[in-house]
Amino acid sequence: MWKTLRQIARVGRISEAPTEASAPQAQHSAETSRIQADLLRLLGRALVIRVVDAGSCNGCELEINALSNPYYNIEGLGIQFAASPRHADLLLVTGPVSRHMELALRRTFDAMPDPKLVVAAGDCACHGGVFGEGYATCGRVSAVLPVDVTVPGCPPSPAVLLQGILRAVQRRV
Ligand code: SF4
Repeated sequence: MWKTLRQIARVGRISEAPTEASAPQAQHSAETSRIQADLLRLLGRALVIRVVDAGSCNGCELEINALSNPYYNIEGLGIQFAASPRHADLLLVTGPVSRHMELALRRTFDAMPDPKLVVAAGDCACHGGVFGEGYATCGRVSAVLPVDVTVPGCPPSPAVLLQGILRAVQRRV
């Protein structure tokens, strides 16, 4: 152990110093901070989200997962994802609604307590996207459920998703 400690003392810190944030990065960071502050002011306490993948390619889910990382820190804002629709205030739906998921999506919506919000996330959820409407898919989420807010993008970035969630909450305050 002494050998290791001596080596640490001799070598010192060898990692590079962090670089200065570029202008677009700084702008992005400021925008995210502003959205977070607005959400905190509006929510006050907490917002629980149930996510349903109604038939997406999983691209939108990757961006939604990124919302949970320390950079966006949505748990620090009082926003949580729930496994049960009975605990949820907001339903976040991705993908076109495949015919196999139509009933499950309706049941999830019905199980949520009022007042409930629905956000369609991604081009597929907004208007069918690359999948459109056909024998296997109902297309846009609004063909199945009342949608409060649509969030375009393929996929929408976490910051854009946060903006959509903020818009949905603003509709109810
Ligand atoms: S909007 Fe794009 S990323 Fe999201 S499910 Fe559709 S194709 Fe995939």
